[in-house]
Amino acid sequence: MTDLRVGVLALQGDFALHARLVTALGHSVSEVRTPVDMRGIDALILPGGESTTISMGIEREGLAEPIRAMHSAGAPIFGTCAGMVLLGRGHLGLIDAAVERNAFGRQVHSFEADLVVSGVAGDPIRALFIRAPAVTDLGPGVQVLAEVDGRPVAIREGNVTAISFHPELIGEGRLHSLALGESAPTDDAPAAAQSLS
Ligand code: GLN
Repeated sequence: MTDLRVGVLALQGDFALHARLVTALGHSVSEVRTPVDMRGIDALILPGGESTTISMGIEREGLAEPIRAMHSAGAPIFGTCAGMVLLGRGHLGLIDAAVERNAFGRQVHSFEADLVVSGVAGDPIRALFIRAPAVTDLGPGVQVLAEVDGRPVAIREGNVTAISFHPELIGEGRLHSLALGESAPTDDAPAAAQSLS
């Protein structure tokens, strides 16, 4: 599947890197700041950034309702880092997961790991965690695609995929392809990740 029109929520955070990656994957991009920008998009990406700021922007611009409508219509929705927080129970609630901000230890603000992600073929994914959120509770319908130290860091429920790290920072497009429905997750249990720092 190519030539999707992918909306990238562009209120705050590293949306420009997502836009560049999505373009490199052969799709077209619409930066989403208001509900009008969502017309005609096939999928939506919620980027990393500050979840509090982005959440206030969603509220201010009246974006929650059109995002929920996209979800109900079955469109792919992908959240990374702060985007994962926004998709969780405390915010939009589009994935049945409790997501805690900045949860990988107060001292450890950033770390990297090589991750094997269910449904992603090839080499492990180099995952950069930057004040990353953690999933603290999952509903029964949520599939865990990858874990670090026994904690889910990539999850999926229906058309919604959420990850706590930043593939866009290194131009890693395989998770975007998975989230946009170009490849399907397998039922394999996630392999244990090796934490590198
Ligand atoms: N700690 C940020 C938040 O929860 C997320 C950090 C990030 O997106 N890299 O808002």
